[in-house]
Amino acid sequence: TRSMSTSRLDASKLQVKRVAQRSEPKPSDELVFGKTFTDHMLTIEWTMDKGWDAPVIKPYGPISLDPASCVLHYAFELFEGLKAYRTEEGKVVLFRAEKNMERMNKSAARICLPGFDSEELIKLIGKLIEEDKHLVPKGQGYSLYIRPTMLGTTDGLGVGYPDKALLYVITSPVGPYYKTGFKAVRLLATDFATRAWPGGVGDKKLGANYAPCVLPQLQAAEKGYQQNLWLFGSEKYITEVGTMNVFFVFKDPKTGKKELVTAPLDGTILEGVTRDSILTLSRERLDPKEWEINERYYTIYEVAERSKKGELVEAFGSGTAVVVSPIKEIGWQGEDIQVPLLPGEQSGELTKTVASWISAIQYGKEQHDNWSRV
Ligand code: PMP
Repeated sequence: TRSMSTSRLDASKLQVKRVAQRSEPKPSDELVFGKTFTDHMLTIEWTMDKGWDAPVIKPYGPISLDPASCVLHYAFELFEGLKAYRTEEGKVVLFRAEKNMERMNKSAARICLPGFDSEELIKLIGKLIEEDKHLVPKGQGYSLYIRPTMLGTTDGLGVGYPDKALLYVITSPVGPYYKTGFKAVRLLATDFATRAWPGGVGDKKLGANYAPCVLPQLQAAEKGYQQNLWLFGSEKYITEVGTMNVFFVFKDPKTGKKELVTAPLDGTILEGVTRDSILTLSRERLDPKEWEINERYYTIYEVAERSKKGELVEAFGSGTAVVVSPIKEIGWQGEDIQVPLLPGEQSGELTKTVASWISAIQYGKEQHDNWSRV
C-alpha cells in the first residue's frame, strides 16, 4: 500500500544534464538493431516511502547496482519497445505510445513494481527524443527504437516486494529490418518447449519471459529454421512466433471467402500493438463480403490440413521491430508446410498491404485516430 503523500510521476520536475559534446549520427547503413544508442538517457527513481523522484535526463552510461539488488536475483524487470519515426517534413512522431504505456503499467503491477501516469512518461520520452533529435534517422524503414525499462532495486536476498525501483529509457537509432525488401522466414513448429501457459505471465513484457526462449531458438537454428512457432498444449494451439504475434490467412473453398486469423488474448499471448493495429485496420478496410477477421484458437493440425487442401493463403508475424515478417515454411513432424508467396516475391498479398497501411501512418503520410503524436 502506498500512502497518499507519495509523489506521482511528474514530468514538470525534469532535470537535464547534457553531454559536453553531441555525437554525430552514424551512417545509416551501419546501424545494427539495438547496438547504437543516443547521447542521453532518462532515469527516474522510486521508493515506497517517497514515490517517484524528479526525472533526470543525463548522458547515456552505466548504472550502478548493489550485488544483492533484487532484479539480479529474482528478475524484477520489465521493458517496452516502441518507435519514433521521422516524417518527410522532419517532424518526429511516436506511434501509439499510449498502448505501450498501458502494457508497461500492467507488467509492473504483475511483479509488484510501481505504476505511473502514462501521460507523464510519454511527455518525458518526448523530452528525451528532443535532446537527441539529430540522431533520429531519416527515410523509409529507419526509426528511433525506444526501450523503457523498470527494475526492482531493493538490496537484499529476501524474496519480497521491491520497495525501491528504477525506471529508465534508452533510445537506439535503427534501420530497416530487411535491407532488400521482405525476406520470408522458415519456422519450426515448437512443442519441445513452451513459451507461456494459462495463469502464467506470457502476456506481460517481463525480461524473465525472454531468456528461456533463446535455447529453443538455437535448437531450431540447428535444424535450419530462423524462429520458433510456439505451440501450446496437447491440442498444439498456435500462439506466437519468436517474439512476434502471428497471423494466418485461410480460404474457404465453398464461398471463396478469406479468413484472417490470430490467437485470442487469453493471457498466454503478448498484447502486441502491431497485432492490434493490424486487426483494427483490417476490420476497417477489408471488404466484409470477402473477408472474415477472427481472434480464435487454431492448431498446427488445422494449418497442416488446410495447406494440403490448398486452403492456406499466407502467414506472417507482427511486431514493432519488423512490422510484418512473411513466413514461407513451417517445419512440423519432419516435413515442411509450404506457405504460398506471391509469384517471384517474398510475401503474400495481405502481408504487403498491411505493411504499407501501417508504414503510411507511422511516417505521417496518413493520419489514423490519435495513433501518431509529435
Ligand atoms: N510477442 C512477443 C513475445 C513480443 O516480445 C513482442 C514484441 N514486443 C510482440 C509479440 C509484438 O508486440 P508489438 O507489436 O507491441 O511490438
